[in-house]
Amino acid sequence: MSEAKILYLVIPCYNEEEMLPITNPVLIEKMNALIGSGKISSKSRIAYVNDGSRDRTWELIEKYSEENELVTGISLSRNRGHQNALLAGLHTVCGYCDLTISLDADLQDDINAVDEMIERFYEGYEIVYGVRSSRAKDTFFKRNTALAFYKLMKLLGADIIYNHADYRLMSKRAVEALMEFDEYNIFLRGLVPLVGFKQTTVSYARNERVAGESKYPFKKMLSFALDGITSFSVKPIRMIMSIGVFIFMFSIVMLIYSLIRHFTGHTEIGWSSLIISIWAIGGLQLLAIGVVGEYIGKIYMETKHRPKFIIDRFLEEEINSADKKLTKPRE
Ligand code: UDP
Ligand code: MG
Repeated sequence: MSEAKILYLVIPCYNEEEMLPITNPVLIEKMNALIGSGKISSKSRIAYVNDGSRDRTWELIEKYSEENELVTGISLSRNRGHQNALLAGLHTVCGYCDLTISLDADLQDDINAVDEMIERFYEGYEIVYGVRSSRAKDTFFKRNTALAFYKLMKLLGADIIYNHADYRLMSKRAVEALMEFDEYNIFLRGLVPLVGFKQTTVSYARNERVAGESKYPFKKMLSFALDGITSFSVKPIRMIMSIGVFIFMFSIVMLIYSLIRHFTGHTEIGWSSLIISIWAIGGLQLLAIGVVGEYIGKIYMETKHRPKFIIDRFLEEEINSADKKLTKPRE
């Protein structure tokens, strides 16, 4: 193993005053064990991100930070939601560390999986996803809505990791690459796979929340899912187009049918033209909306300013930076 790297744990916290007194000692113990065994540098930190909490969360974070130099805190000006808090944390710490691990304040994600994640990192993986091996401890409702969501996302073409929440290790370089994604609607689970680099998964059992309550009630879950779908897929727009094409084709069938009825004298005056117009105009309208939608979809993807590529290695630079190390003894 090469020299120990600096790890920052990034933990978004929103109204977690009940949970933090339980979480903090566990995390400190874990960090001390990791530092003790030489797996990570003693410059590693636990970074709590206070997401505009309305309770004593921030005071607690300040207190813990004074008590122990392993703890540090970042406070957002107001509540911006889990995903933004996480991104803010990663963004802030990535200049200080070699690797980050993001996890929830409620310790539902087994902290012991961290060891394996770090091992994978030293093996050369830059993104390690924590994947739940079982959801037995989640409520029936949560388990099934989550399953439906993953299936739907897959169907709509977004590449997300099954049963992976936001418990993941990312190297400094991977976080920097993630920052290049300029979009406003942040759905990290969909974005991270787009970053690329060597990726792998580590599985763990998910626990129940021991204190406080879930900040994701059904309404928030629904809007989270909708956000995920609409920020990754233009397929819903394509669906309008397909329906339009289908109805328009059907109108041609109706045209033939009503012409036959007309010439065989089975119709009232005006019926044929009326029925054909209804189908044809309906189909054409949907088709037209679909075409407009297709362009809007393009504009939408353009406005995200996603990076077109992220470079993994450039041999020339590697040679140069190796040279620099040799020729700059003062550093
Ligand atoms: N969280 C946050 N901002 C919010 C809502 C939640 O930073 O607006 C944090 C919360 O403190 C926790 C994590 O996001 O650390 C996940 O939230 P929670 O455990 O309530 O979600 P669940 O596990 O029920 O999906
Ligand atoms: Mg939770």
